[in-house]
Amino acid sequence: MSALPTYSAIFDYAAQPKVDLRHCPVCGRYNLAHQQVDRFGYEIGASACVCGVSYLNPRMTTEAYAQFYASGAYRALIQAKYPQNGAARRAAVQSQYGAMLAIHLKHRGVASRVDLLDAGGGTGAVAEALTRTLPMRSVTVLDPSARELWAAVDRGYRTIEAPIEQMPTTLGPYGAIICTQTIDHLCEPLEALERLRAVSKGWFWVDIVECGWKIDHPLYWTLRGLKEALRRTGWTVKDTIRLDGGRRAGVLCG
Ligand SMILES: [Zn+2]
Repeated sequence: MSALPTYSAIFDYAAQPKVDLRHCPVCGRYNLAHQQVDRFGYEIGASACVCGVSYLNPRMTTEAYAQFYASGAYRALIQAKYPQNGAARRAAVQSQYGAMLAIHLKHRGVASRVDLLDAGGGTGAVAEALTRTLPMRSVTVLDPSARELWAAVDRGYRTIEAPIEQMPTTLGPYGAIICTQTIDHLCEPLEALERLRAVSKGWFWVDIVECGWKIDHPLYWTLRGLKEALRRTGWTVKDTIRLDGGRRAGVLCG
């Protein structure tokens, strides 16, 4: 099966520069790669590791991913695949998620009225909904997409345009960090989690979602794999929370 013409016209995945991953990006084990077809019909390679993480293999280079997001190709693909999910619908879903997450976190007694970093926070919609229940002293949104960040600026938030793997560790420190719907998009998860650890002086929420293969997700997590990555980067897991009837889950760290 090959990609439908619509998707290939928007983004020529086959032509992108890629790297063969010889080792699991979390535990370093060697894994074989198998051919798969993703949700758009693109032919991909993928590896599954016993540590609980699966990953695209080969994977587009970090530069190709940066261009994929910056050029708007990613957003155009999603729009073509899910025409019903416009910006307003996305914002509504993110707001709903932020509100639900805030209730769970408040029950667990996390600190509020501290400086919040929303890592991979896009438009800031999740942060805005979260801070209605957990008010914060300040909100900073970090994201690689300038066009997503425009909306965060409109919300009055400080913004930093960078992938988490390249964020300056001189930022913060932050008493609260959230990373929602983001770590599936990372190329270097340990680098990202280490950098977040370096700017943290409080709690940290990171979530994962169950989904099938897609070129925009280099990584596919289980809770076991996530906890392994957190352990390797110095985080202490305090609690595990399942949301959305178990389809989404996350980990609260200290
Ligand atoms: Zn592994």
